[in-house]
Amino acid sequence: MKLLLLSGYLVVTVIRFALDWLNLRHRQEAREPLPELFSGQIDEERLQHSDAYALAGDKIGFVEDIVGVCLTLWFLFGGLLPWYDQLVSGLTNNFILSGLLFFGILALVQLVIGIPFSLYRNFILEERFGFNRMSFRLWGTDLIKSLLVGSFLFFLLVSGALWLVQLAPQIWWLWVWGFWALVSLFLLFVSPYLIEPLFFKFTPLAKAELETGVRELLEKAGVQAGKILQVDASRRSGHSNAYFTGIGKVKRVVLFDTLMEQLDDRELLAVLAHELGHWRCGHLRQRLIKSQLVALFSCWLAFFLLNNELLPGWFGLQQLSFAGQVLVLGWLGSLVGFFWTPISSWWSRRHERQADQFAIDMVGSGRELASGLVKLARENLSNLFPHPLYAAIYYSHPPLVERALWLEKGRVSGR
Ligand SMILES: [Zn+2]
Repeated sequence: MKLLLLSGYLVVTVIRFALDWLNLRHRQEAREPLPELFSGQIDEERLQHSDAYALAGDKIGFVEDIVGVCLTLWFLFGGLLPWYDQLVSGLTNNFILSGLLFFGILALVQLVIGIPFSLYRNFILEERFGFNRMSFRLWGTDLIKSLLVGSFLFFLLVSGALWLVQLAPQIWWLWVWGFWALVSLFLLFVSPYLIEPLFFKFTPLAKAELETGVRELLEKAGVQAGKILQVDASRRSGHSNAYFTGIGKVKRVVLFDTLMEQLDDRELLAVLAHELGHWRCGHLRQRLIKSQLVALFSCWLAFFLLNNELLPGWFGLQQLSFAGQVLVLGWLGSLVGFFWTPISSWWSRRHERQADQFAIDMVGSGRELASGLVKLARENLSNLFPHPLYAAIYYSHPPLVERALWLEKGRVSGR
């Protein structure tokens, strides 16, 4: 079984690298001429610039990936796991404490390994292409803040779950799922007020006409408007976005200040209409339900496998602590999850198309959204030529050229 798992992992790794390579080759060699819509926005020089940006990202991504693969192989198949498991078990007999230590130390190691990559990405790669607007100081305080928030959540979720496992050995899968679902629902409610303000400054929209436009749009879309805010994303990065949050009737709309710099008001409203579309078509609710169902099934499966003590044998081990078994289970989940990626991407692209249609219905045409998206692609140096297979597997949004053409032709559906 160990050999089978190892081969499975290697096969998935080879497929992933092959897809990356295919995508890279396609971007550089198989360029079709861009449609009319892009002219005046994205020229040959811009394309070369975005190609250089993607290539630089590919390179660091490749190094990061290789490091990850080597560490995984060493940990799971090279004898590090049983050594680490015994080390932690030797520290304490307390079930909850040893679980916290087991995952906590690993998370810390992962964090430390990730630091040089994060520094490189922000201060060398993003800096070179003019996206980085962050100082070392801001990077450091961000790191400390997210470490504090992360540790608190980690402590709450892990110790709570382990406590429930001890409390109800026969049905903990249901309890743990319920506990995590409650906490994540709670976080969804409070994070805009408690967590996000730690990192970003939210202020009312600086442009009064835009605020009027947004309110009109919300009314037309049948959404009760809560606060309409802009956020100082430009302090960190030149990349742009818009989103809106909130459960229940009252929605909170947040626009990145970078988005407001890059788009004119009509394009901005079209982008927002698309976001509203996700809510009106019930995508956010569907996503929430889907993820909770997956979580419930995963909890039950974990319970089944752990209860039958199947996992240590699969990895050729005599014994493995509870935390160790949960860890290898998580790894197995991510391996199986790879084959689920194309389905979930396809599903997401379908939602994007529905939200695009909603935007067309709200704004009256798809032209504003299309030109807004082209501008965003220009500003963000997006890859306009993904390999079709790569896009089919990984892309959560339709590739831009195809999407912009579809939007241009789009008509109000008249529902
Ligand atoms: Zn969308």
